[in-house]
Amino acid sequence: SPGLYLIATPIGTARDITLRALDILTSADMLAAEDTRSLRKLMDIHGVALNDRPLLSYHDHNGDKVRPRLIDALAAGKSVVYASEAGTPMVADPGFDLARTVVEEGYPLISAPGPSAVITALTLAGLPTDQFHFAGFLPNTASRRKTALGALAQVPGTLVFYESPKRVAAMLRDAAEVLGTARQAVVARELTKKFEEVLRGTLSELAAICADRTLKGEIVVLIGRADSSAVSEADIEAALLQALETLSVRDA
Ligand code: SAM
Repeated sequence: SPGLYLIATPIGTARDITLRALDILTSADMLAAEDTRSLRKLMDIHGVALNDRPLLSYHDHNGDKVRPRLIDALAAGKSVVYASEAGTPMVADPGFDLARTVVEEGYPLISAPGPSAVITALTLAGLPTDQFHFAGFLPNTASRRKTALGALAQVPGTLVFYESPKRVAAMLRDAAEVLGTARQAVVARELTKKFEEVLRGTLSELAAICADRTLKGEIVVLIGRADSSAVSEADIEAALLQALETLSVRDA
């Protein structure tokens, strides 16, 4: 039936696709993907033929141009499927503007849920999952990264970040400085793939491991919630500054 179908695709292991997502890929009138080559490859693995159906590339840089074509297809009563490169569309991936337009224009929006690195990492981390905050990718520069981390310091749940292997060591160092060295954290790497690895420890332990060893592949960093009794370096610094001010006021 007509509508925009958002399908989740595997984050590593090709068989992590749902039967429903395969049904939708088989029957949709039009296909759109962030990366058409990886969608073709996935369809080949599962024996889904494209035949003469259109397969459009839709990503952050051409979305404004391609979106009207997808909306026109919906207006003509067609079914359109969208997949991002891996995992769930719109989770640190394109699809938001498309979904919003579909909602605004009143066409059906259908989700075929499946893999996402944030949920996969949470299930493996061994950190509380009753509340979590997905913070996506942090800014690239140290000063902006520290500001962003500072804004998350009091979130009452597990923090989840996507991070590049190039920056993970610096990110953990900054996190230890801003959030406190003793916070429990997890680095989850290459989930569902051959070299899957889950490293657990305090922020300072993990920062030391990553300073020592170059981690490769795709990475999720999780940081346990603030322990209300724990004191961070920033807290100590603030307390010291206040004490110094008090002293200088008294001595003046
Ligand atoms: N839409 C995807 C999802 O639902 O998870 C995320 C896309 S985002 C552009 C890519 C980032 O997700 C990677 O840089 C990494 O941080 C994380 N990621 C994706 N696959 C992963 C995997 N197999 N193992 C660990 N992290 C992964």
